[in-house]
Amino acid sequence: MASEFDIIRRYFTRPVKRALLGVGDDCALIAPEPDTLLALSTDMLVEGRHFLAGADAVKLGHKSLAVNLSDLAAMGAAPRYATLALSLPDADETWLAQFTRGVFKLADTFDVELVGGDITRGPRNISITVLGAVPPELALRRDGAKVGDEVWLSGCTGDAALALAHLNAQVRLTDAALAHCLARLHTPVPCIALGLALRGLASSAIDVSDGLVADLGHIGERSGVALELRYAALPRSRAIQACADERLAQECLLAGGDDYELVFTASPDARGRVASVAADLGLALTRIGAVSAGEPGLVSVRDTDGELMALERKGFDHFR
Ligand code: ADP
Ligand code: MG
Repeated sequence: MASEFDIIRRYFTRPVKRALLGVGDDCALIAPEPDTLLALSTDMLVEGRHFLAGADAVKLGHKSLAVNLSDLAAMGAAPRYATLALSLPDADETWLAQFTRGVFKLADTFDVELVGGDITRGPRNISITVLGAVPPELALRRDGAKVGDEVWLSGCTGDAALALAHLNAQVRLTDAALAHCLARLHTPVPCIALGLALRGLASSAIDVSDGLVADLGHIGERSGVALELRYAALPRSRAIQACADERLAQECLLAGGDDYELVFTASPDARGRVASVAADLGLALTRIGAVSAGEPGLVSVRDTDGELMALERKGFDHFR
């Protein structure tokens, strides 16, 4: 049976790159970069809550880091370091090998260095902290949206929630649509390059983790503005387009969550620059609404006739 220290050595220790000291001491040591702010964020994934017992460990490793990197993307920060706190029911080395394979593959893709963590026995629980670098004044905050700005979305929303709806037997997807939606649910790709490209361009940004309307509401609250979306303008994947249940499609688009796209605001003057970013990165960036003076935090959605839509569910909240 491997000891805690064997496990740390075998699965979590790699040669340092940027760090002065990584895994193995009481603390990691990293040198602050001149004229740079550190962006720091933690996200936790709990078995039974964020993933099911028996979930594929490689994909779980990927997703655990991806959801954290998505927060750096939303801040316009370049990924640098991560720490990983793990609670595991047992020292299952097959699971550890697969989980760390998923973590390190994504870490290498985005040049993040795992510099420390903790491991303990308990219910399966994964908590990652990431650190990123961003020049002062260029961080993409939630509180910069101005009345008159336009609202933009990368990619499209709804696919991850549609996969969950299929797993819960609320809808039956074709094999191709299911494969696409499951990949969106289990192996989301954080929009790091987009976050960097939006520095100095977006007036505010957030990543869509809890649902488009709910997350835009956070921009609204922090910025003291209201936001209005045009339902017909929302980009739709083929899987969403093929969904015969229009109510479900609407809920997935507006309130599904687990999308890890970026939604951001920018001045109308920036339209051309936003289009150039989309072309340069080969991404879809779609103008889906506008910032208005109104009740701070209020997000309304208008249908094709310009009528306000009644939303049953706005997004995901762990305590509601
Ligand atoms: P301490 O008792 O000082 O907290 P630990 O024995 O928990 O130290 O950890 C030893 C070293 O291994 C530390 O450098 C810690 O950061 C690292 N470490 C422990 N668990 C992990 C993990 N899951 N991922 C990465 N590094 C880890
Ligand atoms: Mg410890």
